[in-house]
Amino acid sequence: MKTLFEKIAAREIPADIVYEDDLVLAIRDINPQAPAHVLIFPKKVVPRIAEATPDDHKLLGHLLLKAAEVAKKLDLKNGYRLVINNGADGGETVPHLHCHILGGRPLAWPPG
Ligand code: 5GP
Repeated sequence: MKTLFEKIAAREIPADIVYEDDLVLAIRDINPQAPAHVLIFPKKVVPRIAEATPDDHKLLGHLLLKAAEVAKKLDLKNGYRLVINNGADGGETVPHLHCHILGGRPLAWPPG
């Protein structure tokens, strides 16, 4: 069965796409927690960061570099936060690895 993000990548579910290349897709979050809230994920299904393998190291590097590029494109000059939720306590709800890009307002620390 396809994950939600695979369906979005296959255009089976609509999304506001911010960036796409062969390896990753970036979309606006449907329930934004900040003025800018984008999810960037690998097209390859890695369920969560805890299940990534050494074979994924280039893909993960690409994901982070593209996250920074997307943040630049979003004009988040005053800063932003990248978040990867892993497992139940981490707040993960979609079991397809993704990195949140949050910005456009000051973000509190520690997170809730
Ligand atoms: P997680 O909680 O797994 O770290 O993040 C999943 C994110 O996916 C949430 O922020 C949630 O709002 C977002 N989300 C869930 N369903 C959809 C959807 O159908 N479209 C988009 N664009 N985002 C979604």
